[in-house]
Amino acid sequence: MTETTFTETSSKTTTASAFGASAPDARLRALEIQRRAVGPSDVRIDIQFCGICHSDIHFSRGEWGQIPYPAVPGHEIAGIVAEVGSEVTRFVPGDRVGVGCMVNSCRECENCEAGDEQYCLQGNTQTYGSIDRDGTVTYGGYSDHVVVDQDFVLNIPDGLDLDAAAPLLCAGITTYSPLRRWNAGPGKRVAVVGLGGLGHMAVKLAHAMGADVTVLSQSLRKQEDGLRLGADAYHATSDDATFAELAGRFDLIVNTVSAGIDIGRFLTLLRTDGALVNVGAPPEPLPVPAMALITQRRSFAGSAIGSIGETQEMLDFCAEHGIGAEIEVISADQINEAWERVLASDVRYRFVIDNSTL
Ligand code: NAP
Ligand code: ZN
Ligand code: ZN
Repeated sequence: MTETTFTETSSKTTTASAFGASAPDARLRALEIQRRAVGPSDVRIDIQFCGICHSDIHFSRGEWGQIPYPAVPGHEIAGIVAEVGSEVTRFVPGDRVGVGCMVNSCRECENCEAGDEQYCLQGNTQTYGSIDRDGTVTYGGYSDHVVVDQDFVLNIPDGLDLDAAAPLLCAGITTYSPLRRWNAGPGKRVAVVGLGGLGHMAVKLAHAMGADVTVLSQSLRKQEDGLRLGADAYHATSDDATFAELAGRFDLIVNTVSAGIDIGRFLTLLRTDGALVNVGAPPEPLPVPAMALITQRRSFAGSAIGSIGETQEMLDFCAEHGIGAEIEVISADQINEAWERVLASDVRYRFVIDNSTL
């Protein structure tokens, strides 16, 4: 019976236009993929905009390990509900919605039960490159539509433009979650390492939470922008004087850098009991000198995106505070060039694909 049902469902897949890579070193190109038919608890979303996250590049190029090809990345999805399944209660066609980095989880492990489905003990189902729980391969938001279980779809509040809201679904929640957990707020000094997609959201969010915010960037090239986005101070990490001047200053450092950095040096900038939280996900290990932790009871931690509940909270917070991403909207034929600019740290501050150009 189950097999029959599955066969019937899979025979009703829909063809989607997409942009993807067929090998680690291949340029992205237009291709067609199959999406599953809308099941009882599914929502079909016409994608209007999709942000370009550095993770899209790490993943598609196989930097985190082998992946299935073609790779269709994109997990900063904003669009409009086009169709809902018979059991969907949370959405109706026409709703403005978003999808982030995960589209499913086991729903029964300790972490899922606790509302931390991003840390599902069986592994959450990623928006791209995963096998979904119905057996289909997941493809991301560089595509014209997507089919997602309603429990993993977010409401985008009316006050937020869809293009500027798209990056909130990854860059926004990935920085909001550690800022909240490590109590960024009035009286707290927060440093953000790297002013890219995640970094610029961290600055905006920490500032809106009331923290004193410092940007630690490779150079002073983007200083004016950093201060405009809400930073109170801006320093170049290429200047050794920065590390002497800021020693022992911060309660929290959020590292958003996509490459390896000298973590030990940054730990010295924490005060006693301070924490350095890594959200950057370079493929190589980040060696941590024990003494830098021990001598001032400092912590080194990591954090992955946020739960669905926390993502909705973040979107509502952004609407309340008028926060969207700083974006450069591009057409599909500019994706390869945009990736090169991300790799060159030449992004101000998130590329967002206009999916009507796919
Ligand atoms: P991005 O836009 O490229 O920003 C990264 C920034 O890091 C750059 O703008 C640059 O800032 C700095 N940087 C780059 N290379 C550097 C180097 N060699 N040394 C020092 N600084 C360097 O990338 P993103 O989209 O924000 O993503 C950042 C990282 O977070 C990626 O590794 C991504 O995979 C990861 N990520 C993790 C999660 C999670 O759940 N933990 C979620 C999303 C993304 P400056 O020019 O200001 O120095
Ligand atoms: Zn991402
Ligand atoms: Zn689970």
